[in-house]
Amino acid sequence: MRAIQMVRPEAGAVSYTEDAPVPTPGPGEVLVKVAQTAICGTDRHIYHWDDSISHLVKPPTIIGHEFCGHIAEIGADVVGWHASEYVSAEMHIVCGKCRACLRGDFHICEHTSIAGLQRPGCFAEWVVVPASNLVRLDPEVVPTHIGAMLDALGNAVHTVQAAQGIAGRHVLVSGNGAIGAMAAAVVQFQGAASLTISEVAPGHLQRARKWAAGLDSETPIHILDPTSDGNFPEQVRDLTGGGVDVVLEMSGAVPAINVGLDVLYPGGEMILLGIPNCRDLMVQAFTERVIFKGLRLQGVLGRRMFSTWDLMLELLAQGLNLDHIVTHQLPLSQFEHGIQLLDRCEAHKVVLNPQDS
Ligand SMILES: [Zn+2]
Ligand SMILES: [Zn+2]
Repeated sequence: MRAIQMVRPEAGAVSYTEDAPVPTPGPGEVLVKVAQTAICGTDRHIYHWDDSISHLVKPPTIIGHEFCGHIAEIGADVVGWHASEYVSAEMHIVCGKCRACLRGDFHICEHTSIAGLQRPGCFAEWVVVPASNLVRLDPEVVPTHIGAMLDALGNAVHTVQAAQGIAGRHVLVSGNGAIGAMAAAVVQFQGAASLTISEVAPGHLQRARKWAAGLDSETPIHILDPTSDGNFPEQVRDLTGGGVDVVLEMSGAVPAINVGLDVLYPGGEMILLGIPNCRDLMVQAFTERVIFKGLRLQGVLGRRMFSTWDLMLELLAQGLNLDHIVTHQLPLSQFEHGIQLLDRCEAHKVVLNPQDS
């Protein structure tokens, strides 16, 4: 079958093959024929063999972890699923036994293994997943180009879900990459008092402006480049009656985290999904900006299993539109071209078609 493999533990060591063996589902597993799959920021980090993630990947292995498709084969002991059902899957495979799992926090399982990193992924014509990780999709609600990126949408929705509320509150989405753009769409859809998007990359800024211009939104939307639009904190305070209630930190950029804390109104909250590229984070004026303002900081990883999946499918059923996020659809063999588009911020979400050569 066609597949994209990380072949050696070094930057750029991927290969496209048409001869990878089709995997066989074991007990409790199913084989899914992949309809479409999407490139995630994590795949870029793997491709570039960044320290942040490379220690988890053991080449040679098939990468990719965002997809949708149809069940092709059912392994032993699988009940409740049948061939040809339209599905996606949670690719964090959890132990079910640790303290986090026992209290229902599967997304922070101590023993998580991730398909596409620690076990074969979905940049392939077929992928094997545990049946317990499947999510059933309605083709009327979720077209395959959206189904391909539910893992990433789940990151965005989980970040929104982690806030104590969106409706009627002033929200800053810090970073308009693909997941930031998804979070912005959810915040607008849920009726925030205002939505401010901060972004520095010209391509991502332009896409945010184009998206906002095409909406008939009751939520006022402000799009700002904090590095060039004058005094950013002052502007945000002016636009939001003194500061925002919620920051969804999607960028991981240290200056963005600092300025986000600065523009939060007392009693506000910062939900952090973006991963800083440093282990130790320097927070300026921590006492004044965090403690004396009584802020709440919340880290987010993955998707809640399965309340985040349930919420995002409900939002899509209610009409949340994300078509603007999928900027490119390419055959699987053009994976590296997709990575280059993302590296240059020329794409938001690149969806790959494994059934096309
Ligand atoms: Zn991902
Ligand atoms: Zn666990």
